[in-house]
Parts: sequence; structure tokens; C-alpha cells
Amino acid sequence: MAIRLRDLLLGLRELNLESAPVIVHASLKSFGQVEGGPQTVVSALMSVFPSILVPTFTYKTMVTPLTGPENNGIRYGSGESLNRMAEFFTSKMPADVLMGIIPETLRKHPRARRSSHPILSFAGINAEMFLEPQKLDDPLAPLGALEKQDGWVLLLGVDHTVNTSIHYAEKLAGRRQFVRWALTPKGVLACPGFPGDSAGFKAIAPEMEKFTRRARIGEAQVQALPLSMLFKVVINKIKKDPLALLCQQVDCERCGEIRKGMEKREKELGDQVTS
Ligand SMILES: [Zn+2]
Repeated sequence: MAIRLRDLLLGLRELNLESAPVIVHASLKSFGQVEGGPQTVVSALMSVFPSILVPTFTYKTMVTPLTGPENNGIRYGSGESLNRMAEFFTSKMPADVLMGIIPETLRKHPRARRSSHPILSFAGINAEMFLEPQKLDDPLAPLGALEKQDGWVLLLGVDHTVNTSIHYAEKLAGRRQFVRWALTPKGVLACPGFPGDSAGFKAIAPEMEKFTRRARIGEAQVQALPLSMLFKVVINKIKKDPLALLCQQVDCERCGEIRKGMEKREKELGDQVTS
């Protein structure tokens, strides 16, 4: 049976977030059939939460140059065919399909505003105060601003591998960030502060369990996590183990670069001790 607006409202209210602002990551498919499709989910979110932020990232603006800074978790010159398909960023560019249809539906809402980062833009409703702090070299600043207003992360049928807020906490913990490049009408723009890889983020779930609120909507498992606790837990975890939350793929360029950086630092510290 298709789920309806009412089911979504009940499920979202069950999380008891009161009037907290939220960043939403969602999979429409995870609910099963939704009457009215993504519009119904966006309507439900707008009814329950006064302020909503979604990622509307646009990876197809990205180009890979032939050369660039070292230790950047990238193979320079490897993007020839992708570079040819890259598109100029415009504020009307749809969010990447990886974000799912719900952020894209919210972006197109008449009341939505979008930030202007050429790769990592966010869209929001009543979210100007979170969109505004974003800078080219501080792309995830909206998540920091959201945390200051006691914001929550909503994961609707998705897991921590899409939880962008963990990236912001990685940065706060001092983890290496990268440079990427985007095609814009003004030319190719270097975008510093680009985060690492999120494939290993599920490892945060056990430590976040006691702060996580859950509900079930249709077939979807819905989770809400307070950003302030998420940031604390991630920062502590990385301070204890500088390799925490990295993925296990041997060919992962960004995780590999962070590992190499740590090995180098340990070696330097070791040399200091023995000399
Ligand atoms: Zn990785």
C-alpha cells in the first residue's frame, strides 16, 4: 500500500525534534510507494520543520587539471574524457542524481534558495542564515551554522555514507581537505576545502546510537541525529585514531592520501624521538 502525507507527518513528528532546523538526506525509493511522489515528502518536511537544508551538489561541473598541488588525492591528467563532458555551473543546474530526487524537488520549490558554490551548493527553505556563511574555501560552513542553531541531521532511508555533516566534523578535527576544480562561466575555479571520502562513515553508527532517534515510515528506516553530538563524537574518534572513518578500498585516492600523511607524520615524530 502506498504511503501518504499523513504517514510521513506521523513518522517525522514521532522523532520529536520540536522546531529544530534540519539537514535532510533521503532516498525516495526507501519508503516504498509514496502517493504524490517526492512532492509529498517535501510537503511533509515543510509542515514539520521550520527550516530545511539539502545538499544540491553538482559533480558534473568538476574538471581534473594536468597538474596541481601534491598529496591531493587525485590523479592529474586522468579526467580527459570527463573534462570534455563537464558543464558550467549555473544556479539552475539540477542536483546530482546521487543526491536523490528529494533534494532536487526541494530545490525547485518556489520558496527555496540555493547557495552558489559550483560543486557543493546547498538549497534550503527558510535557511538563508545557513546558506549565507558558505564560502568557496569553506564549502560545508552551512553545517557549522546549522549546528550552532541546534540543528539535526535527518537520514530518511539512507545511512551515514551520505551524511555530509561528518565531513564538516572531520575538518574541525583537523583532517586533511583537498582541492578540486569546477567549470564556471568565469573559467575554471579552484575549490579548496573539498572533503575526503565517505565510504567508511558507517563506522560512526555504534557510537552515535544512544543519541539517535528512530522512526519507521513505510519501508524506510528514519534516523535523526543532533549535530552537536555528531560533531563531538566524530572529533573524539579522529583524535583517538587519526585513521578512523576511512574506507578500506586499497585504491581510494583520498583515504590513501590521509593514511600516507599520517604515516609521514608518525615517521617524523619517530625520527625526532630517536635523534
Ligand atoms: Zn575511501
